[in-house]
Amino acid sequence: MARIVMKFGGTSMADLDRIRNVAGRVKREVEGGNEVAVVVSAMSGTTNRLVGWCQELSPLHDAREYDAVVATGEQITTGLLAIALQHAGVDARSWQGWQVPIQTDGAHGKARIAAIEGAELIRRMQAGQVPVVAGFQGLGPDNRVTTLGRGGPDTSAVALAAALKADRCDIYTDVDGVYTTDPRIVPKARKLDKISYEEMLELASVGAKVLQTRSVELAMNERVRVQVLSSFADMPGTLVVDEDEIVEKEIVSGIAYSRDEAKITVRGVPDRPGIAAAMFGALAAQNVNVDMIVQNISADGMTDMTFTVGTADLPRARSTLADVQPQLGYAEILADPNVSKISVVGVGMRSHAGVANTMFRALADKAINIQVISTSEIKISVLIASDYTELAVRALHTAYGLDGP
Ligand code: ADP
Ligand code: ASP
Ligand code: MG
Repeated sequence: MARIVMKFGGTSMADLDRIRNVAGRVKREVEGGNEVAVVVSAMSGTTNRLVGWCQELSPLHDAREYDAVVATGEQITTGLLAIALQHAGVDARSWQGWQVPIQTDGAHGKARIAAIEGAELIRRMQAGQVPVVAGFQGLGPDNRVTTLGRGGPDTSAVALAAALKADRCDIYTDVDGVYTTDPRIVPKARKLDKISYEEMLELASVGAKVLQTRSVELAMNERVRVQVLSSFADMPGTLVVDEDEIVEKEIVSGIAYSRDEAKITVRGVPDRPGIAAAMFGALAAQNVNVDMIVQNISADGMTDMTFTVGTADLPRARSTLADVQPQLGYAEILADPNVSKISVVGVGMRSHAGVANTMFRALADKAINIQVISTSEIKISVLIASDYTELAVRALHTAYGLDGP
């Protein structure tokens, strides 16, 4: 007997037939004698529609009200899955984030989980009931509903698994595991039996949306055993494990892309101490995450600053920079939302030279221009025009010898 958290993503919950299919999978685990808690996403497409409505009414909408709107997708699927389970003869009960409660900080729209009260859920699981918990949702210190950012149900599931001291956290999705890159754009991508926490963390953070970054970070810190597997096929998935459990270490283990990037260039900034602190401090105060940054060498005491933010943060970043223009004294702001970030990740980079050069060569051979470069110990990222995203990922997958049969 084991205690298991099962998480089902949007495609797995997309319609009533699929919800019945999910209920069948949950029932099998329960009949196997296990204690089961389920975490669900909204039906695929729902969250996008809700986000779109908020943006249409006001691009700079109040983040508390955004959360009030977008958290509703998961309320629907918790109730529907509980009904489907009851109909299949399984005792089940829905739980919204505020009912558990899943406590978060106050960063509406991208909140972080602070604590989960697990005792009541454990009591019910021990009594044979299946809690169906809304992913994505939390309760903020202001006593209002928060959401955890896109892909948030993964994090809800891992955090719940830690709070319930579960033996496993199974993330059911529409692919049968973690691949060397997104199998939807590279048919020759290979499925990995195991991937290290470090590499998965890095891949997720640069756009491999199969797991939300924060969920991997939590799994690593709380020692949660995570498996990614298909809700449509019966086969083993990919285990996320410690680096020393992986025998064959590749130099590059995966390639990820993110179209969700926007490039901002602030031109004609007076080059004096404190200017970066003032600019990025103002953005941080508005909860805008800044990613890649380059500052040009200055000419005549003036410099240009280029950086990237998530596309969703672009309107807020622009208005924040406009507000501090009198203080910073820059000349103009240029914004380009049509950029993608392409990254190669691998622990082998620590000990091998020439990994970056292979990347630059492969992109040059396809005449793809690199706009910004950034590196970390096990990752190299470049910013390119988004039209070339797929071409770049395929070229790199081949260049690093990752293509499968
Ligand atoms: P869910 O709704 O179940 O959370 P997501 O759409 O968030 O599913 O994540 C699954 C998707 O992640 C896949 O359909 C695939 O297109 C994409 N993906 C990106 N990179 C990878 C990768 N390296 N391995 C597997 N899937 C990936
Ligand atoms: N509501 C979530 C989102 O789109 C659903 C998911 O991650 O699958 O961010
Ligand atoms: Mg997801």
